[in-house]
Amino acid sequence: MARKDIVVLGAGIIGICIALHLQKRGRAVALVDRRGAAEETSFGNAGLIQREGVFPYGFPHDFGALLRYGLNRTVDAHYHPSALPRLAPFLWQYWKHSRPARHAEVARKYAKLIEHCVSEHEVLIAEAGADALVHRGGWMKVFRSERERDRRFAEAEGWKMDFGIQHRKLDARALQEAEPFLAPVLAGALHWTDPISVQDPQALALAYLKLFERLGGEFMQGNAATLQADGDGWKLRTARGPIEAGGAVVALGPWADVLTRALGYDLPLAVKRGYHMHYRAAGEAKLNHPILDVERGYFMGPMPRGIRLTTGAEFALRDAIRTPVQLGRAEPIARDLFPLAERLDNEPWMGARPCTPDMLPVIGPAPKHANLWFAFGHAHHGLTLGAVTGRLVAEMVTGGETFVDPAPYSAARFL
Ligand SMILES: Cc1cc2nc3c(=O)[nH]c(=O)nc-3n(C[C@H](O)[C@H](O)[C@H](O)COP(=O)(O)OP(=O)(O)OC[C@H]3O[C@@H](n4cnc5c(N)ncnc54)[C@H](O)[C@@H]3O)c2cc1C
Repeated sequence: MARKDIVVLGAGIIGICIALHLQKRGRAVALVDRRGAAEETSFGNAGLIQREGVFPYGFPHDFGALLRYGLNRTVDAHYHPSALPRLAPFLWQYWKHSRPARHAEVARKYAKLIEHCVSEHEVLIAEAGADALVHRGGWMKVFRSERERDRRFAEAEGWKMDFGIQHRKLDARALQEAEPFLAPVLAGALHWTDPISVQDPQALALAYLKLFERLGGEFMQGNAATLQADGDGWKLRTARGPIEAGGAVVALGPWADVLTRALGYDLPLAVKRGYHMHYRAAGEAKLNHPILDVERGYFMGPMPRGIRLTTGAEFALRDAIRTPVQLGRAEPIARDLFPLAERLDNEPWMGARPCTPDMLPVIGPAPKHANLWFAFGHAHHGLTLGAVTGRLVAEMVTGGETFVDPAPYSAARFL
């Protein structure tokens, strides 16, 4: 039986970064996935490393928004009515954690991770030779109304003071200069200048994987469901035969609950599904920055395959039938804003953001098992926090001092 120091379960961006950081610290690591690497949620996201993302996306609290969402006809959110009974406990907790005072408390804890998101990715990008995959031009929130624009400008000033996040304020004319192919219907934009945008998120994950393998790490196919305690450590069946390892890390993203439940944990996890579609930019049209059409609720970014349009949150059971209604609603609005030509994918891609009700990821030792660690629940920011999580988990596993206090992210908060 092959012997490893540690096995990392799940080769999305989170598992890959953890495996890489452990391998860099001299551990013999097996990274295991039932599929190829970064073929699930980490494949098709919007590609932002969101240094500005200190406030994780909360549940709306104003009556108007709740009413709009309740009618289930908005672009940014959609839900399956049939899933509500199962989702209700999660949504109730999510709503409570999104109350303004509590949300601000969550943001203070979250900011400790977000603060390092760009610098930690920059280290891995340099080591992996992946510079060509990233663009250091930030991204923009664009506004239809002066009211929303000015509200967000004021919010950005607050985030600058509280969290050191940089921005540029663009009025309608400055935005038109920066993005000449956007229809002249906008009141301006907020340009977050610190974030990085990744040209192809899967390609970045694969570049990190290649570095992991160059350092001696092994990536193999296997089913995490075969994980079994084995003395002080763990054993698992893989396509390369059985392996035993001193420790295991669960980085299964939206599927984490399948394994944690089998191990005796009742964690309040759910998913927010999202879709993408690529379009050819018509004629000479060019989008220079990724943009969020804030008041309409969809996102567009330039990628090598074309313009990638991504949708907001769909509250549904993870494995329920795909219902890309938000894409259908966003597409005509996006076409009015930017000259999109034909669709380039046969069907919409779907991913499931792995979520916790308090909007903080689960990172740290498994409360009821020795030599087992959890790293999932990164919701809207798994790409953003991949490198940070990788370093934090590796520092915990190897027993060193951690660069961020991991206490707020422990699974123990839910037990
Ligand atoms: C539309 C959309 C846009 C987004 N935009 C952004 C963005 O701009 N910036 C950002 O930071 N984040 C974004 N996200 C969120 C981000 O994509 C996720 O948070 C992140 O990909 C989660 O990574 P992960 O490694 O935890 O999960 P995944 O990438 O899903 O990886 C989990 C892995 O576990 C494997 N697995 C599952 N079950 C088993 C099993 N039984 N045995 C073995 N392997 C198994 C899967 O095959 C998979 O490879 C977006 C998400 C969506 C849907």
